[in-house]
Amino acid sequence: MEIVAVPAFSDNYLWLVHDEASGETAVVDPGDPAPVLAEAERRGWAIGQVWNTHWHPDHTGGNLAIKGATRARISGPAAENIPGRDVALKEGDEVRLGNHVGRVIEVPGHTSGHIALVFDHERVAFVGDTLFAMGCGRLFEGTPEQMYRSLQRLTSLPDETRLYCAHEYTLSNALFAAHAMPGDAAIEGRLAEVKRRRGEGKATVPTSVGQERETNPFVRATNVEEFARLRREKDSFRS
Ligand SMILES: [Zn+2]
Repeated sequence: MEIVAVPAFSDNYLWLVHDEASGETAVVDPGDPAPVLAEAERRGWAIGQVWNTHWHPDHTGGNLAIKGATRARISGPAAENIPGRDVALKEGDEVRLGNHVGRVIEVPGHTSGHIALVFDHERVAFVGDTLFAMGCGRLFEGTPEQMYRSLQRLTSLPDETRLYCAHEYTLSNALFAAHAMPGDAAIEGRLAEVKRRRGEGKATVPTSVGQERETNPFVRATNVEEFARLRREKDSFRS
């Protein structure tokens, strides 16, 4: 399974997923159709599926244009309003790309029906706006309890699982982490690495479960109250 980042807007990553054996291609959260269609065309890939993690327009804004151009089948969370949706996904459902099987888990918090797609065999998960490298999504619709549990579920996957989140927010998250957990060697080390990569114009995602368990304050929070306090602080934090 080959996964390609397509940058869009100011800081979104739209993920193109290609299976060499079957020739099938899917796109995760195509907020903007133009860069996705251009990248697929450049690679000679025909998009057959759209997978949405949640309803926000920077994740679904390209659905109808991509469906119009490719006749792709659109799968998205059952509990949300998804443009052009053909398949409604709930906890325990599956998406398939060739022989690759992705398991649907419900991870509410950022939105109330947010889902993630977990490819256990490939050690890959598409997590949308639930978990970011060293951070997590804002609580627009869900509760701290829901988000805390969602983050714990995602980071209970094996350490080497790569987490494909939808935004390049790592530098701002790393600065907050260093502020929230001062003197933490793992966080300081990752902050330096993130500064270096961003200085070179490189992406800092995907991240991994192991890295997040070590350096993400929202994941390291030991209870819901600590998580809720960190999330409130981050909402007004200016780095
Ligand atoms: Zn969102």
